[in-house]
Amino acid sequence: MKSRKTSALTSPFDAQRIEEIRKGAELIVSNWDKIKSEKDFETFKEGIRPWRNKVRGEYQALMRGLTNAATDSDKVKNVDRTLDSWRKKAKPFFDVTQNVDPYPSVWDSWDKSRATWRDKLQAAIDGLSGVAKWLKSLAKKGIVVELADTTPRNMELSGFPAQLVGFDPKDEEHVEALKKLKRGLKVFEDKTSKAMPAMVEKMVPIQAYFDEKSPLGSAGRLGDGTIKIWPLNIGKVDTFVHTIVHELAHHWGLELLSQKARGRWVELTKEDVKDLDLREVLKSWPENQPMHEWEQKIKKDDPALYLQLQSIFYEHVKVPQELKDNWTRESIEKYLEGGGDPKISVPATPTTPYGATNPNEGFAEALALLIAYGPRAVDPTIRGWLEQVLPGELKTALIRSLVKIAEELIDRP
Ligand SMILES: [Zn+2]
Repeated sequence: MKSRKTSALTSPFDAQRIEEIRKGAELIVSNWDKIKSEKDFETFKEGIRPWRNKVRGEYQALMRGLTNAATDSDKVKNVDRTLDSWRKKAKPFFDVTQNVDPYPSVWDSWDKSRATWRDKLQAAIDGLSGVAKWLKSLAKKGIVVELADTTPRNMELSGFPAQLVGFDPKDEEHVEALKKLKRGLKVFEDKTSKAMPAMVEKMVPIQAYFDEKSPLGSAGRLGDGTIKIWPLNIGKVDTFVHTIVHELAHHWGLELLSQKARGRWVELTKEDVKDLDLREVLKSWPENQPMHEWEQKIKKDDPALYLQLQSIFYEHVKVPQELKDNWTRESIEKYLEGGGDPKISVPATPTTPYGATNPNEGFAEALALLIAYGPRAVDPTIRGWLEQVLPGELKTALIRSLVKIAEELIDRP
């Protein structure tokens, strides 16, 4: 356990700081029912961003401050219990900050569950009042909870504007994660400026959250016109570059591609389907071999088939539900014996299993593979599609030669 030390970066935590959070939350609750459309929802998300970041910083600071007070001061009774109850009370704030901050498409589900979230937020407001009172009573006894200043700080990381949320320079884990983030961004910049310089030029601001692990497990996500990064989730540098490019590709897909180019991409992916014959699948799947073993084998022997089989589990790929639910040799046999159509439609040129989710994810995955792992990681057909919708933007050697070949082959009017 770290000891409580005063330094330039600590300040006493008083009830006033909690009071500010509480006031902000009340304002939000009072506006809750005025959100009537996705557009309102977007405005609302934008409006509460500063409050949300403040809450995140304060929450973390308070947790640390109380923990330190608990270990340092004999005068504080029941600190553990209070700490626990504060955690429970503040949790809805955190959940709410997640649930008002997702992909735009989540509006529908937010709308459906808005009453639940408002109740949780209201309960958190009441809880905060209790914590404020408790802190006041501590102050009367002369006990001051000191805490690190974790207000968001703005800086440049590898030349990109970034805001660090909840960063504590005294926390070794944070310092280590910041190093990883810097290294990852440097590699991202190197690779991307070679393969697609415009993506670096049109980079969006970074928000890096040090106060938690990513709620989605992935180290990055696009939202509020920023790229959000969870440095504590950064693993291998290539994976990180893949994640960042994937998210920025969504930014391109949403903001920078023309309507026509977007439409073209959807067309290309939708046209690129083939029928997979379940009878053939059964032939190549040895009897008595469990699915995962067989998959490992075809992953090496026939990667395209592997990806096609993975893609059947995605919602939009039209496969009879009974097979999606239960993908075994027996269930396929039963389905065929029952007169089921042996042909199912799958992507002819899959990128990654996740890329099969929908055309947007396919675009993000294709671009991410191309930039993070090089042109050879992407099927030539898909490289050609990328070149069509991003004309002149891609600078990889293989793409250049592909364009040249295409120019020679295609008759120009
Ligand atoms: Zn995505």
